[in-house]
Amino acid sequence: MKRSLKMGMIAVVGICLIFYQYHLSTGIRFDQVSIFNGGAAAADDNGNLLPIGDEDAYVRVHKITEEMIRKAVFRVQKANGLSPDVSAMLTQELLSYANKNFDSAENNSRVSRLTPTTMATREETVDPLYIITPTYRRPEQIPELTRMSHTLMLVKNVHWLVIEDAIVATKQVTRLLERTGLKFEHLIAPMPEKYKLKKGAKPRGVSNRNRGLQWIRANATNGVFYFADDDNTYDIALFEEIRKTRKVSMFPVGLCTKFGLSSPIIKNGTFAGFYDGWIAGRKFPVDMAGFAVSVNFLRQRPNASMPYRAGFEEDGFLKSLAPFEPREIELLADNCTRILAWHTQTKKNEPSAPLDMKLYGSTNLVKLKQQIV
Ligand code: UDP
Ligand code: MN
Repeated sequence: MKRSLKMGMIAVVGICLIFYQYHLSTGIRFDQVSIFNGGAAAADDNGNLLPIGDEDAYVRVHKITEEMIRKAVFRVQKANGLSPDVSAMLTQELLSYANKNFDSAENNSRVSRLTPTTMATREETVDPLYIITPTYRRPEQIPELTRMSHTLMLVKNVHWLVIEDAIVATKQVTRLLERTGLKFEHLIAPMPEKYKLKKGAKPRGVSNRNRGLQWIRANATNGVFYFADDDNTYDIALFEEIRKTRKVSMFPVGLCTKFGLSSPIIKNGTFAGFYDGWIAGRKFPVDMAGFAVSVNFLRQRPNASMPYRAGFEEDGFLKSLAPFEPREIELLADNCTRILAWHTQTKKNEPSAPLDMKLYGSTNLVKLKQQIV
């Protein structure tokens, strides 16, 4: 028998076995597996196509696939004496086939789907996204950064600049960053004393963001950067949007000020001003989470920085990018019709009381307390 024919037959047997085992382990009918095959649709009992409205089902199917393929090929290998080389090839073929179909399902569907990069076997050929995150030591710090890191872990080629307003870096933060597997920098940039002592609103996160800009000037040559506070909530689709930035892009942010959102206004398809509950004479009345900038554009403006002026940080930074005018803004998120960034705020918690070591010194609580900052 010709080698190619033999391989083909093995592949067909493999695919049949995989779908059979998939069927046994999930209880999902074969017709429902049509989600794999290029369309964002599943079949109902009569075989009619239905739109997928169930994200959970999609994610479940998505998660099972890679593991299923590997397991099934392994079983076929053991049962039929397939050589490890042929098994590896078969696994690779099936994975790339499945991935291709996920991509086209994603592109074809109205609602964009989640695609964890951990599932993708594709090379990271996209330009880097530098995410500048100011943070500071407080009880909410680790949970905030946990939430955020798990979002960023779903994004391709992210380089996370986590910058603490502190004299010493928090070791729990370093550990968290190491666990993510993300490319990261853990830097410190304390707020200058004179602003700390000031009464009223303080320029929060400014020293951190300026340190981030300094790092980018020294180390980055291409890609896009974005100021992402540690307490906000980000839709992973946002990161694919901001990759498109040529100079400066903008997009809506939910839960801002008394208007409930902050966004460029689009009329007849073009930019027509800003919607924000607090204009205050700003040229760029936008939220920190509402814009992204290309690294090249920044590098052409050596004096760009963020001012230590509470409430005017965004405006001051965007003005420092001159020459740059509002009409040049690149509008993202489907011409500013989707909210992909949310200005959430977490309730503040009191610092926790120290552990009574007489009572609990020889218990698990010691280790647990060390994880709370
Ligand atoms: N931040 C900081 N030092 C501070 C207060 C805040 O580095 O003393 C960081 C914080 O972690 C966040 C950003 O600066 O990433 C904005 O602060 P916050 O979320 O408190 O401001 P808000 O969103 O309420 O305007
Ligand atoms: Mn915040």
